[in-house]
Amino acid sequence: TIDAADLKRMFDAIAVAIEADKDRLCQLDGVIGDADHGIAMALGFGAVRDALASLDLATTEPTTLLNMAAKSFLNAVGASSGPLYATAFMRGAAAVKGKATLAAGDVIAIVQAMAQGIKDRGKAEIGEKTMIDAWLPAAEAAAAANLAGKNLAQSLEAALAAAERGAEATKDMIAAKGRSSRLGERSLGHMDPGAASAVTVIGAMTVSLG
Ligand code: ADP
Ligand code: MG
Ligand code: MG
Repeated sequence: TIDAADLKRMFDAIAVAIEADKDRLCQLDGVIGDADHGIAMALGFGAVRDALASLDLATTEPTTLLNMAAKSFLNAVGASSGPLYATAFMRGAAAVKGKATLAAGDVIAIVQAMAQGIKDRGKAEIGEKTMIDAWLPAAEAAAAANLAGKNLAQSLEAALAAAERGAEATKDMIAAKGRSSRLGERSLGHMDPGAASAVTVIGAMTVSLG
């Protein structure tokens, strides 16, 4: 089972992975946006890591930890990714409310709630060249794998593979949401930075929890 200490380790792993990926994410955002996506994500997950460091993990429930992550991410990030990920973590928290430890199915439920939260907050549909093009197929793949009897590691691997395919597919999309939608057809041929960072986040989750 997964507890608050495992979730803290997961956020630490995401912070490390995003920090290592910061320059590439800024470069991707520089092509079709304002070049700050890597900085925004690194600030956000750095703030989450710092906030969670003060928690007494023995007495903290997963839902409390996830709500704290939401709040610190939102406070640290001024870019659009701020409220999107904050909503994701808040929805993840709500999905496991009252549980002291999490089974594989609960972790999958968090991933699904995160994807749905991003979709509700940003109102993006599949094909509009956003992080949703990675998060939604990832959540669907995780749920399908879990339903087919796969374990947590296998389900997260399936989510990661789907996120990678989704991010790759954004190259052939015209941006219809967010800053890069102003470019119209000129956004073609470039990977969406938010979809790229979603792969990094889901990858770190997979290695950490799997
Ligand atoms: P900003 O555009 O404010 O600088 P970031 O650079 O941090 O914000 O994030 C840009 C990413 O946010 C985009 O690449 C896209 O994936 C995502 N994004 C923007 N608007 C939306 C939306 N409405 N729904 C989902 N994702 C979005
Ligand atoms: Mg940006
Ligand atoms: Mg910006």
